[in-house]
Amino acid sequence: MHDNREIEQLRPQRNFLNPHIPYHFLHEQEPDAEGILQRVNTIFLTSKECAFKCLMCDLWKNTLTEPTPQGAVLKQIDYALARLPEADVIKLYNSGNFFDQKAVPPEDYPGIIERLQHYGRVIVENHPKLCGEACLQFNEQLNGRLEIAMGLETIHPDVLPRLNKQMTAEDFKRAATFLTAHNIDVRAFILLNPPYLIGKEENIQWTFKAVQFAFESGAGCCSIIPTRAGNGIMELLAEQGHYIPPTLDMLEEVFESSLRLQQGRVFVDIWDIGFLSDCSICFEARKQRMETMNMHQKIYQRIACSCHSNYARKRG
Ligand code: SF4
Ligand SMILES: [Zn+2]
Repeated sequence: MHDNREIEQLRPQRNFLNPHIPYHFLHEQEPDAEGILQRVNTIFLTSKECAFKCLMCDLWKNTLTEPTPQGAVLKQIDYALARLPEADVIKLYNSGNFFDQKAVPPEDYPGIIERLQHYGRVIVENHPKLCGEACLQFNEQLNGRLEIAMGLETIHPDVLPRLNKQMTAEDFKRAATFLTAHNIDVRAFILLNPPYLIGKEENIQWTFKAVQFAFESGAGCCSIIPTRAGNGIMELLAEQGHYIPPTLDMLEEVFESSLRLQQGRVFVDIWDIGFLSDCSICFEARKQRMETMNMHQKIYQRIACSCHSNYARKRG
């Protein structure tokens, strides 16, 4: 098992960030539960690093080492909203836990709520173990509907404990049950190819099982994230044969099977997926196909190319 100290020791440098400016923001579209496309403003807040140190996490790169100064999150929201178009939904992602008081000071909640009053839905991210009374109080004040995105990562009984996430699948279920019972929606982040899970079919199957579990636990949507290296320890795990990067066809396969479930919306994280492909001919078209599938929640015909098995199957 790898502990916080070892994980931190192997880290490359973090980025130097201004606490008064969000490190990124963007406008995107995403379907709601009825399939209606919503305009979404996503703000990647600069805040104090997450207290957990998950084995595969590289989000700490864009965080602060000290508690987020009071008022800084408000300035960041103002900065981003002044540059973003109107939208129906807002995601405030802080590379950690929104309800960690050192990441987002509770003194800023009223100012945040005021700034978000025109949004029909507010999505924040939070660790299952930090889902409690504060979420309910925040939700009560909020004009729009609150949705909390939580990392389930995997439900593999030997892999989840090794991720140093300090939670079990049951913790996720408990948090999801608690939130949905209080009219807070839940979204799950699920990994494809977490460290310590080797084998193509095994990885596809366990990602699919985690999607099923998330829906059974009450999640309204799941976002599948291909696990990437880049945080220091992941490189070591790859060298030792404990991590293999996923491939584009694995992502396509688990995306399709999860959509076929029809239990809720399924998205794949297509940001930064260049590392999944070694074919420059079909990559863009396949990425676009998944983007369209994210948008319409339907399975479109696969892109044929001589580089992958799908082509061979079709030809054969
Ligand atoms: S809980 Fe989330 S943000 Fe925190 S270390 Fe784990 S993956 Fe990263
Ligand atoms: Zn190809």
